[in-house]
Amino acid sequence: MQQLNNLSSRIAAYQPQIKAAVDRVISSGWLVLGPEVKTFEQQFAAYLNARHCVSVANGTDAIEIGLKALGIEKGDRVATVANAGAYTTTAVLAIGAEPYFMDVDVNTHVATLAGVRAAIEAGVKSVVVTHLYGLAVPEIAQIAGLCADSKVSLLEDCAQAHGAAIDGKRVGTFGDIASFSFYPTKNLGALGDGGAVVTNSDVLAERVLALRQYGWASKYTVKTAGGRNSRLDEMQAAILSVFLPRLDEANARRREIATYYSSHIHHPDIVLPQNRGTEYVAHLFVIRSAHRDALREHLRAEGIGSDIHYPIPDYRQPVFEDRYSDVQLPSTEQLAKEILTLPCYPEMTDDEVARVVAVVNGWRV
Ligand SMILES: *Cc1c(COP(=O)(O)O)cnc(C)c1O
Repeated sequence: MQQLNNLSSRIAAYQPQIKAAVDRVISSGWLVLGPEVKTFEQQFAAYLNARHCVSVANGTDAIEIGLKALGIEKGDRVATVANAGAYTTTAVLAIGAEPYFMDVDVNTHVATLAGVRAAIEAGVKSVVVTHLYGLAVPEIAQIAGLCADSKVSLLEDCAQAHGAAIDGKRVGTFGDIASFSFYPTKNLGALGDGGAVVTNSDVLAERVLALRQYGWASKYTVKTAGGRNSRLDEMQAAILSVFLPRLDEANARRREIATYYSSHIHHPDIVLPQNRGTEYVAHLFVIRSAHRDALREHLRAEGIGSDIHYPIPDYRQPVFEDRYSDVQLPSTEQLAKEILTLPCYPEMTDDEVARVVAVVNGWRV
C-alpha cells in the first residue's frame, strides 16, 4: 500500500536525534516556553531572514493571534481564499470578524492581485493570503505593495510553504505578519501540534508575545485585551530544532518528486500543475481531472492513497447553512470538483514514485 504520506518513515530516520532532544528536555525539567523554544524561535527567524518568530500552539492560533495583533476585532472584514481548508475562516470567526471570500487563479490555485484589489475596494481591513501547496503566491510582492499603499494589513499564511521563496526572499517576510503551522505533516513538522507567528515589526511581535500568554505584560499583570493561552512546549521545540537544519534538503527531495511526476505523468484527462520553479517546496502535489472521482477509485484499487485538498469551499461548509448562499467563486468551485493530491513526501523512494506514475498513466477513463 502506497500511503499519501508516511510519518513513521521520517520518525524512524531521525529516531536517535529525536530521542536525544526529548531526553534533554526531560532532564532539564523545563517543559513550556523555555530555552528550547527560544532557541528554535531564533533559528527559524534566522532561516526566514525575519526579525521575530513567536511560537504558539498551532497554525490556526497563529492566524488568529496574528490578526488580533494587527488590530482585527469583532465585526471587521478580513479577505481570504476559500480553497485552503477553512483554517483562516475559522480563525477570523473566532475573533468575531467576518470573512470576505476571494476567488483564486485556476492554474496556480492561489489569490491574485486583482482579487486582493477587489477585496480592498469592498472595504476589508486585513487580507490573508495563503501560499498553498508549497507555492509562493506569484504576485505576493505586488499584493504586499498594494496593501501597504491602501493601509490594509497583510497576513501571509505559510502553513504549507516553509522555505518557499521568490527571488530568494522567503514567504513570511512579504506582509506585515505571517503564520506557520508545525503540524506533523507540514514541510517542517513537530511530533504534535505547534505553530508560529513571524514578523519584522517589533510592535507586532510584542503584541503577539502578550496575546499568546493571557495578555500579560509581565507575570500576572494583564495589559493586552484578547489574550489567550497558546504556547509551544519544549519537547516540540527541541524536535523542530532537529528537523529545521534538514528542511532545505527535504524540500529539495519533495521538489525532485514533483518534477518527476510533471515530466512523467502523461494522460489526456489529467491537468498537471504548471512549472513552479526552484523555489517551490512541493508540500502537496495536486493534479486536476474532470473525472477525478474515477481516478481516485482507480488509485484506491491499485493500493495508492490520495486525498482532496480541499473538497468543500469554506463558504459551502454545512455549518454555515445559507449564510453565504450569495457567494459564488467559479474557479474555487471548479477546482474543488477536479483536484486530487498524489503522494509526495521526502522519504518516498524512486521506485514508489515510479509506481505512482505507472498506475496514473495506466488509468483508462
Ligand atoms: C495546516 C494548515 C493550517 C492550520 O494549522 P494547524 O496547526 O493544523 O492549526 C492553516 N493554514 C493552512 C494553509 C494549513 O495547511
